[in-house]
Amino acid sequence: MAELTNANAPEGFQNDPRVPDELKNNVFITSLDKIYNWGRKRSVWPMLFGLACCAIEMIATAASRHDLSRFGWELMRASPRQADLMIVSGTVTKKMIPQIVRLYNQMPEPRYVIAMGACATAGGPFKEGYNVVSGVDKFIPVDVYITGCPPRPEALLHSFIKLQEKIEKQSLRNVPWYQKGEEDVVPIPVLGPDLVDLRRAQEIREKAAQAAPTQEQPAA
Ligand code: SF4
Repeated sequence: MAELTNANAPEGFQNDPRVPDELKNNVFITSLDKIYNWGRKRSVWPMLFGLACCAIEMIATAASRHDLSRFGWELMRASPRQADLMIVSGTVTKKMIPQIVRLYNQMPEPRYVIAMGACATAGGPFKEGYNVVSGVDKFIPVDVYITGCPPRPEALLHSFIKLQEKIEKQSLRNVPWYQKGEEDVVPIPVLGPDLVDLRRAQEIREKAAQAAPTQEQPAA
């Protein structure tokens, strides 16, 4: 209850004769943002899925030794509709990224993403491999990155604390999920002979046009 103090009460609150004595130590003054974020940061529901070896550490984090329920985050859900945190734990392959983006789009706002380990952050030991994406943030926004191959459960717990700090700083006045306008949906990449990010379609067309051989002019 660290945030719920009357330390920021208006000056004179404690000495104001109009405030009854029995209320002086029972009334807490805080802001709506602090109450809202205090509840949200202790009630995060991670999505239950893993991609590679890092997922083993994520599973260990959820077991009794590391006691994830201290954070109020222990309830993992297999459905993106019931989750608000995606932990990308493992190698992101080109075959898998369309499914990851689809799952991300299916999560309701507010939603957060943790890139766990070297692979999810930047491709890891497989960076520039023919079948590997060089970081999940090429496609979906990431809130917290964890280094390591694999990161230990303590590192994942540290990322939860960092995400809690980020949630604490958000304000009802400007959080995107209460703004009018179109929902922020990420186009699902298309996997053909290679992976195509549809947000870069125009750029790809222009580069292809520049690289195409020009037809030789017929001799006069
Ligand atoms: S970062 Fe290391 S441990 Fe994690 S998925 Fe990649 S290779 Fe496996």
